[in-house]
Amino acid sequence: MVRHTVRRFWVETLGCPKNQVDSDKIAGLLVGDGMVAAGAPEEADLVVVNTCAFIEEARWESVDTVLALRSAAAGAELVVTGCMAERYGDELAEALPEADRVAGFGVPVAIGQKPSEPSAASTAPPPFDLLNLPRPPAGAPWAYVKIAEGCDRRCGYCAIPSFRGPQRSRSAEAIVAEVEGLGVREAVLVAQDLASYGRDQGRGERGIVPLVESLGERVDWVRLLYLYPSDLTDPLIDAICATGVPYFDLSLQHVSRPLLARMRRWGDGDRFAARIAAIRSRWPEAVFRSNFIVGYPGETEADHDALLDFVAAASLDWCGFFAYSPEEGTHAVSLDGQVPPELAAERRRELAEVQDEITAAKRDRLIGREVVVLVDFPGLARSYREAPEIDGVISVPEDLAVGQFHTVRVLDALGPDLVAGAVSP
Ligand code: SF4
Repeated sequence: MVRHTVRRFWVETLGCPKNQVDSDKIAGLLVGDGMVAAGAPEEADLVVVNTCAFIEEARWESVDTVLALRSAAAGAELVVTGCMAERYGDELAEALPEADRVAGFGVPVAIGQKPSEPSAASTAPPPFDLLNLPRPPAGAPWAYVKIAEGCDRRCGYCAIPSFRGPQRSRSAEAIVAEVEGLGVREAVLVAQDLASYGRDQGRGERGIVPLVESLGERVDWVRLLYLYPSDLTDPLIDAICATGVPYFDLSLQHVSRPLLARMRRWGDGDRFAARIAAIRSRWPEAVFRSNFIVGYPGETEADHDALLDFVAAASLDWCGFFAYSPEEGTHAVSLDGQVPPELAAERRRELAEVQDEITAAKRDRLIGREVVVLVDFPGLARSYREAPEIDGVISVPEDLAVGQFHTVRVLDALGPDLVAGAVSP
């Protein structure tokens, strides 16, 4: 058993950016409790695994990580938290005797507070969550900032509302204070349904727009991830572009209207295309990302062809395609027309091929242009076109100062990534 005079912790994070924010807050909580961060899991007295339960693949990755850390840090107390712990609670604890504790969000048991009860089918918020806990300053020039937790929608494939609860927006003051304390140049706002921020407090669109404006006065770049397309209003579009990051991460999921209806989601390909065209006409330099689900129950060849046509015509900068994964307790598992996994994989490949060419061509068109970048690490930077950890990166000269903005010239493109050289003063 590892024993240090001051207890050391290691937090391992799986899954999405929202989990990274929770991990930062767990670290803040543990530091506040007198612990220090370990340099490696082997040196830790407490190892926390912040798991992801998004799809089956993510759950297996979480379990593998727990097992790997159990052998790497044999003497440490091992706590499993995050979405899997919240969703499967006791069941997970039974299946994973390697873990000393399985605790709902925030590893409260590690610091003597009450753990949340597993709440597989409940829509109530977890009794303990990390949303408003303090957080240490960021170790990079950018940071994810979670502005709300939970979701009020009921998309057919998604289990998140069942264990994250309904939407709870943080106060604008708490978010602003957190951003100021992080000391970053770029705040990347995340939530399950970002454009709905403030709606649970009766603020509707008046919630997200003033928040974005207010943060834009405090940091150089504000980036918004996960925008539900029906909520992308003109004031929000203008507020986004005014922050210097005309980057639109639209959660589209498909373009076939009947299939979207089966997903219990708004819209269709024509509406999405019209919205994208309207943004481009106002902001020609706008960049778009979207995610699509492939092989949702009932997806026909015609639906798939419609999505292929949309992807080819929309010419989005970045796209993610995910094979549908049946999630226990969701509307979609009861639907007929389940698509065989091999067919879904083939459709996904086709879509990725089309998009990869579009992305590469768009990156090629940047060669020779000057762009403003924020340097994240020595030799590695991003412009407003690239969300951190999600899109491509830009290689820049090693001597450009980290945490600063620089103007560089794009010299080459390698698929999604760019190579740039310094511009003479
Ligand atoms: S908007 Fe839909 S997919 Fe996103 S978290 Fe809410 S229910 Fe899930």
